[in-house]
Amino acid sequence: MKILVVNCGSSSLKYQLIDMEGEVVLAKGLVERIGIEGSILTQKVEGREKYVIKQPMASHKDAIKLVLEALVDSQNGVIKDMSEISAVGHRVVHGAEKYSNSVLIDEDVMKTLEECSKLAPLHNPPNIIGINACKELMPNTPMVGVFDTAFHQTIPEYAYIYPLPYELYKKYGVRKYGFHGTSHRFVSSAAADLLGKDIKELKIITCHLGNGASITAVKDGKSIETSMGFTPLEGIAMGTRSGNIDPAIITFLMKELNLTIEEVDDIVNKKSGVYGISGVSSDFRDIEDAAWKEGNKRAQLALDVYYYKVKKFIGSYAAVMNGVDCIVFTAGLGENSPETREYVCEGLDYLGVKIDKEKNKVRGKAVDISSEDSKVRVLVIPTNEELMIARDVKEIVKG
Ligand code: ADP
Repeated sequence: MKILVVNCGSSSLKYQLIDMEGEVVLAKGLVERIGIEGSILTQKVEGREKYVIKQPMASHKDAIKLVLEALVDSQNGVIKDMSEISAVGHRVVHGAEKYSNSVLIDEDVMKTLEECSKLAPLHNPPNIIGINACKELMPNTPMVGVFDTAFHQTIPEYAYIYPLPYELYKKYGVRKYGFHGTSHRFVSSAAADLLGKDIKELKIITCHLGNGASITAVKDGKSIETSMGFTPLEGIAMGTRSGNIDPAIITFLMKELNLTIEEVDDIVNKKSGVYGISGVSSDFRDIEDAAWKEGNKRAQLALDVYYYKVKKFIGSYAAVMNGVDCIVFTAGLGENSPETREYVCEGLDYLGVKIDKEKNKVRGKAVDISSEDSKVRVLVIPTNEELMIARDVKEIVKG
């Protein structure tokens, strides 16, 4: 069974064609600058040169059309005919309280997704456009929606309710939803596999540290708390997002600097985080270089703030689970920065966390980096949201 996984952004589209026999990625690609000048598709197939197509793509439908053409291309493609694609899995950011699992997309689901757009105005609309485009081009192929929020629907009420007037939850859906759920689900399950344990017996803290970042407490295989909230702005400091701050800072800034809602939104989402503190970059590689090679003090401060925030969440999640058996690092920074893992775990010996510095030198591989006598296993696990989506699609389509 071959499954196409699609992740549509506002002007970009990522895709993978996965053969579920052996879970092999046949092709993966990225379409950029959809609807703007300079549209480009780049497809990668293991062992081959990159296949690049530069041609105008006015819409997501044009983009998907070109993706399908690239996949069946006689020279550069990997399948003979579109009919070889058994189903399509779509990453959808927000499923609100409607979806705690992935779902076969029908007219009712499309309506619900439209409703959910209110909660994710930047993310759900391009997801919906992508689904519609695929439906038009592949009317007989089943489509499945896989939600970033779904895994966190097991978070208990006392953890997802904000201490705000209760009507705001009831009328407007103001509550914690959490994001990156597909990644947290994938790595927590892979962690249990790597440890050879039943996930239902484990207390796991998963740290998804990428450009956007979130931390999740997984108990008995279920998410019971996560750092992102009503939006992906809550939680730890990120590349450009502030994460948790005193909410009164927003109104203070609006009053003092006479800022509009859009301007203040821009500050906390795009000009804050490690970029805001360092003034260097939102990319951790640049910040690490500035701090450690050039002695840039603000870059070092940004890193110190970051490690401190991650450590605080780990401590509090050990508290909510009454202990922790395993900490997982994943995503760009979690998989590739040994220093981040070392500094975050420094001083967690009270929890029984001990890292082996040699084992910790790993980048991008699934490895147990804790020392023999560490009570808590510390793992690096590369995330694979596309594979998780494809597995869900297979399950649903077969069912
Ligand atoms: P997203 O999917 O949210 O865009 P990623 O998971 O790709 O993000 O993570 C991107 C982040 O990972 C960037 O800040 C990048 O600097 C960081 N990163 C990637 N490789 C390394 C590395 N070798 N050392 C330090 N940071 C890295």
